[in-house]
Amino acid sequence: MPAVHVSDLRHLLDLPEDAPASARNLADHLGNIVRAATAGDPGTAWISALPCRRRPGRSRCPGRIVVLRSELPPRIEWGCDTCEDEGTICGWEGTYLDLREPRAHHRSVNATEVVVSDEVVAALRSLTLLDLSCERLVYQATGLDEGVALMADEDQLDELVGYVAAEANHEPNRRRQQRLDRALAVLSSALREMER
Ligand SMILES: [Zn+2]
Repeated sequence: MPAVHVSDLRHLLDLPEDAPASARNLADHLGNIVRAATAGDPGTAWISALPCRRRPGRSRCPGRIVVLRSELPPRIEWGCDTCEDEGTICGWEGTYLDLREPRAHHRSVNATEVVVSDEVVAALRSLTLLDLSCERLVYQATGLDEGVALMADEDQLDELVGYVAAEANHEPNRRRQQRLDRALAVLSSALREMER
């Protein structure tokens, strides 16, 4: 694994087709960090739902990625809460991974916490059709000791359930479809709870 200190996202976004898998994995990992850091509030470090990608001694690091975004100048710092992996990312502003909220965007005051498993939130991160508000919801997920907390109101959760259902319906890969179906079951039951 290359040592990561300062990564310029612009270089990672246009990797050539034949880039090695390690470079692609790193680009995916840093891309998810940018999404989480820009979906969350700036100014404070918080624990995202993103797992650490390191495998010290061939066993997976159990840590989660802590992100900190500052606004002036725009800057993202990240680090694993368990191992030493850390870095700074630049060049992310205005890319499709930048999930900062448009100005004057309405923020829901009725959001409640929905706790789901890491597998569910990983399935949500794999969705390809999400709009900005749902994508923010997915990447704002915070890591807990057990599982992950999503903050959503009824409308947002309903919208997210719709996206998961649509993508599960059209998924040709059976394993991925099962993952999406499990996520759909969990979110649908959380939605029914909320509607009570
Ligand atoms: Zn780690």
